[in-house]
Amino acid sequence: MSALLEATDMWQSFGGVQAVRGMSLEVSRGTITGLIGPNGAGKSTLFNLLSGVIRPDAGQVSFKEQDITRLAPWRRARLGLIRTFQLAREFQRMTVLENLMFAPQLQLGENFWPIFLRPGAVCAQEAEVYRRACEVMEIATLTNLRDDYAGDLSGGQKKLLELARTLMIDCDLILLDEPGAGVNPALMNTLTDMIWRLNREHGKTFLIVEHDMDMIAQLCDPVVVMTQGSLLTKGGFDDLRRDPAVIEAYLGS
Ligand code: ADP
Ligand code: MG
Repeated sequence: MSALLEATDMWQSFGGVQAVRGMSLEVSRGTITGLIGPNGAGKSTLFNLLSGVIRPDAGQVSFKEQDITRLAPWRRARLGLIRTFQLAREFQRMTVLENLMFAPQLQLGENFWPIFLRPGAVCAQEAEVYRRACEVMEIATLTNLRDDYAGDLSGGQKKLLELARTLMIDCDLILLDEPGAGVNPALMNTLTDMIWRLNREHGKTFLIVEHDMDMIAQLCDPVVVMTQGSLLTKGGFDDLRRDPAVIEAYLGS
C-alpha cells in the first residue's frame, strides 16, 4: 500500500545553511510516526516544507498520491493535511469556543463575507460549526474552559486548544511540532491521551516532532531519526534507543 504522505529527496537552504539535505520520509495511514533528531537537524524546516509554509529548493511531496509540492498551506488543509500553529496574539483575546468556531475559515482560507450577505445560510452553517465545536471541546477536555480567553490558559491548555482547532476541519494527517514543549507533567498525560484517542478512535494519522522521549516511546511507531538534514535511520523506539549511530548523533550535537 502506498504511503499517505511521501516526501522524496527534499532540499532546503537558507543563505549558506543547508537545513535539509536529500531527506526522504513516508507516513503510512493510521500510524503515529515520530520524527526525532538533535537540535538543528532540520526537523522544523522539513515540517514547513510538508505543510507548505516554505517551498523546497528541490524534492517532491505527495499526499494521497497527489503531488502537493507547490500547493499553498490552505489547499493542503482542504485535502486533509493540517499542522498546528501557535495561537497568534489576536486569538489570545478570543475565547476557547470562539477560537474553535473561527478555525475552519482560517485554515481553509475561506472567504466568509458572502455568508454574512445570506443570513439564512449563516444559521445553518453556524449551527453546524457550533455543534462540532462542542464535540471537539469534549474530546479535548476543554468544555469547562469554553468561555475563558485563550490568552489566560496555561501552556498545556493552549496546546490542547491548538490541537483541538485542527479537529474543526475534516483532516486525515496532523503534523505536530513539539506538542509537549512547555506543558506540565499532568497535562502531558492528557495531551498524550488525546493524541492516542484521535488515532485509535477517530482514525487520525500523526507525524510528531518531539523532544520528550517518554512521549515518543508511548505514542510513536515508527520513529524516524534525522541528523544534519538527512535521514539517519527509522524503526521502533526500543531498537533506536540502543542503536550506536543514534546515540552518537545525540551525543555529538
Ligand atoms: P530543528 O527543528 O531540527 O532543530 P531547524 O529546521 O529549525 O532544525 O534548523 C535546521 C538548520 O537550519 C539550523 O542550522 C537552523 O539554524 C537553520 N535555519 C532554520 N530556519 C532558518 C531560517 N529561516 N533562516 C536561516 N537559517 C535557518
Ligand atoms: Mg525545531
